[in-house]
Amino acid sequence: MKQFDYLVVGAGLFGSVFAREAADKGKKVLVIDKRPHIAGNVYSENTEGIHVHKYGAHIFHTNNTVVWNYVNRFADFNRFTNSPVANYKGELYSLPFNMYTFNKMWGVVTPQEARQRIEAQRIEAGIVNPRNLEEQAISLVGRDIYEKLIKGYTQKQWGRECSELPSFIIKRLPVRFSFDNNYFDALYQGIPIGGYTKMVENMLKGIEVRLSSDYFDNKAGYDGLADKIIYTGPIDTYFQYKLGCLEYRSVRFENELLDIDNYQGNAAVNYTDSETPFTRIIEHKWFQFGKDDEGNDLPKTVISREYSSEWKPGDEPYYPVNDEKNNKLYEGYRELAAAEENVVFGGRLGEYRYYDMDAVIASALDLCGREL
Ligand code: FAD
Ligand code: UDP
Repeated sequence: MKQFDYLVVGAGLFGSVFAREAADKGKKVLVIDKRPHIAGNVYSENTEGIHVHKYGAHIFHTNNTVVWNYVNRFADFNRFTNSPVANYKGELYSLPFNMYTFNKMWGVVTPQEARQRIEAQRIEAGIVNPRNLEEQAISLVGRDIYEKLIKGYTQKQWGRECSELPSFIIKRLPVRFSFDNNYFDALYQGIPIGGYTKMVENMLKGIEVRLSSDYFDNKAGYDGLADKIIYTGPIDTYFQYKLGCLEYRSVRFENELLDIDNYQGNAAVNYTDSETPFTRIIEHKWFQFGKDDEGNDLPKTVISREYSSEWKPGDEPYYPVNDEKNNKLYEGYRELAAAEENVVFGGRLGEYRYYDMDAVIASALDLCGREL
């Protein structure tokens, strides 16, 4: 008899949801994380009353009612609606691409005029079946928007030419022929009141968690503690990179606490030209406080400039690069994982997938359904 039924490696959303469900089913669960805190990449930290999203801005959005009801068990959510602004060399545009964007770009007023512009630019580029992100973007919104709002930003974010990137990345963004600045096509959207860390703390209530504990520092010892392992770290690390390194994009955050109440008037401003070295500036207070909230009177604000970079060992792996080469390598690891007894690989790093929070929760709940 081992001490625990499950060892969960990683206190991010995947691991925490699994741990909660397993504990509720009467299983004995131990959660470990190599970081000194819980919540994985959704971790938020309080700076002068402002919840700073330490690993990048996180907006919860979903169409999945089961997932929405699930997270609402652990937090109340505010009414934040994401409407980023694009700054191209001082010209400001509304995002996602919508009638405000088309009007500012071309002076068009009706959806018909906007569609005609885009169609003409698509035909001029000779694109019938888009084969990559560049072609996909031009056929969705035309060359002008591609050149000013997509090309530079995407190349900075991914460190690759748009023509070398898969088209699905840009399909994440809605294109609207209406005056709607809501970035997400989602029934439900918001930020947990009290911060993401508090939400995950509520999920893990009553469950043993050991922080600053790297599974690989004592793998045999940890394996001896539990019947089964739920592993949510990078899949290639688990197998000691024996098939090669999967590629990730990393991000460096430069945070500043400023003695002003309002830096940019919005949570996110994307710098879409290729010369500005960062991709965007996040002003954290706008996630938290609605327009009428007291927090707006705070005389301070925290901003983060995000610099995107190629991942190298020692960096945080943020975005899996799901191009053909990496997906093929991942398939090799997936086969090894399937043959690994008593270990389940899950989450964004364990499955090498560009999962949003809601998808990662849905996937963890799905595993619980099969496993518990
Ligand atoms: P993680 O949160 O990465 O958790 C994995 C955990 O495992 C980590 O805490 C790690 O420390 C731990 N771990 C790894 N290896 C070991 C080891 N050897 N030993 C012990 N512990 C280990 N999603 C949205 O829905 N909306 C957004 O706005 C959004 N914005 C994002 C912005 C950025 C910059 C990024 C990178 C992602 C964003 N996401 C967003 C996606 C979201 O972060 C993920 O869906 C979610 O955090 C994945 O949870 P996870 O548990 O799979 O992984
Ligand atoms: N994108 C862009 N310009 C922008 C915002 C996004 O070209 O101002 C592209 C970019 O390629 C990005 C993709 O759209 O990777 C998806 O954007 P999203 O905001 O979903 O990125 P993420 O949430 O992954 O940071």
